[in-house]
Amino acid sequence: MTEKELLKKIDTYKQDVIDLQTHMIACPAVSPSQGGKGEGAKAAYLMSVLKKMKFDEIKSINVKDPQAEGGFRPNIVATYYGKDRSKTLWVMAHMDVVPAGNLGDWKTDPFKAVIKGDKIYGRGSEDNHQGIVCGILAIKAFMDLGVRPPCNYSLLLNADEEIGSEFGILEILKKHPKTFGKQDVFIVPDGGVADGTMVEVAEKNVMWLEFTVHGKTTHGSTPKTGINAHHAGARLMLALVDGLHKKFNKKNALFAPESASTFAATKHEANVPNINTIPGVDVFCMDCRILPCYSNKEVYAEIVRIVKKIEKQCKVKVTIKVPHQEASKPTDKKEPMVKLMLEAVHRVYKNSPKVVGVGGGTVAAALRNAGYPAVVYSKLDETMHQPNEYTSIKNTLGDSKIFALIAYQFK
Ligand SMILES: [Zn+2]
Repeated sequence: MTEKELLKKIDTYKQDVIDLQTHMIACPAVSPSQGGKGEGAKAAYLMSVLKKMKFDEIKSINVKDPQAEGGFRPNIVATYYGKDRSKTLWVMAHMDVVPAGNLGDWKTDPFKAVIKGDKIYGRGSEDNHQGIVCGILAIKAFMDLGVRPPCNYSLLLNADEEIGSEFGILEILKKHPKTFGKQDVFIVPDGGVADGTMVEVAEKNVMWLEFTVHGKTTHGSTPKTGINAHHAGARLMLALVDGLHKKFNKKNALFAPESASTFAATKHEANVPNINTIPGVDVFCMDCRILPCYSNKEVYAEIVRIVKKIEKQCKVKVTIKVPHQEASKPTDKKEPMVKLMLEAVHRVYKNSPKVVGVGGGTVAAALRNAGYPAVVYSKLDETMHQPNEYTSIKNTLGDSKIFALIAYQFK
């Protein structure tokens, strides 16, 4: 079989894209913590699809979640053996979707697929059904042509990505690490840009912080009898934003659109309800996205230093909470997998793909931290999480071709 035959085969799968999307959109796999039932119905449908294909192994790793329908969250693993079974090319996508949001903002029923030209509308169509469909169709072409790829090809269809993957990939890495082999590599089709030029290999470290400034409440007419926590909080916020940007100021052109670390003041909690009271407590938050050349630990140490300075100057006490943090090792630009991706993207879309790093928060970080090369790639219009989310059939077939070309060459 030649690469050309493989690509030609995928061109005949337009109806498969529509069928898969139509069934998946009809299963609202919203997480229980967001008021949904979980991925059960969608997983059952996908299992029935995969079982009709020529996979050699199919299983579901069920993670207990009493809140979900059936009491668990399903994670599907399906493998088609390669000629060499010692390593595996994985395509990892997620079955869960975010809630529809305000129904009035949708022009169509979010949980009923509507096809208009090249577009299929529905919640989850782009995030992440497109990735699931591409993962299935890329290997279907091998199966239909009766050919084995050089190495194993596995699909990993996860639960719980939108909430933080506690019932998904994080649990698999922790409790079922033998699912993966040492030489395995991952494609994560869950992020990209409209012209299909973004090949993501790195993320910034994430650190979210909450600062509570304790002063002393008093009457607005006699500020000196209290300690204004809001005022001190404002000074602290400015000192942090300015100080952190100044100290951690390196740039890395790999990262777009922000090539430097970012330290942003975000949420601010309401304090006193009336204008004539000096607030005794002030709470604000920061979202820090840190280049991997710095550690979260050294940034935190600088934060503590600035906090101590402001405590002294303003006579307040500050407590710091870190509700979430995550460090991410980048995938080496020189990984053979990255080169395969760049070549395949160029071949299919005739564009000039670029290797980039992003601000963080994708599930590829967990894989990279576990030591696996992981490349995030999709061609998509970035309608995810929005009303009137859609996917493009053309992009789906194009990305399927890219993954098939990689499977054809991955040795
Ligand atoms: Zn996603």
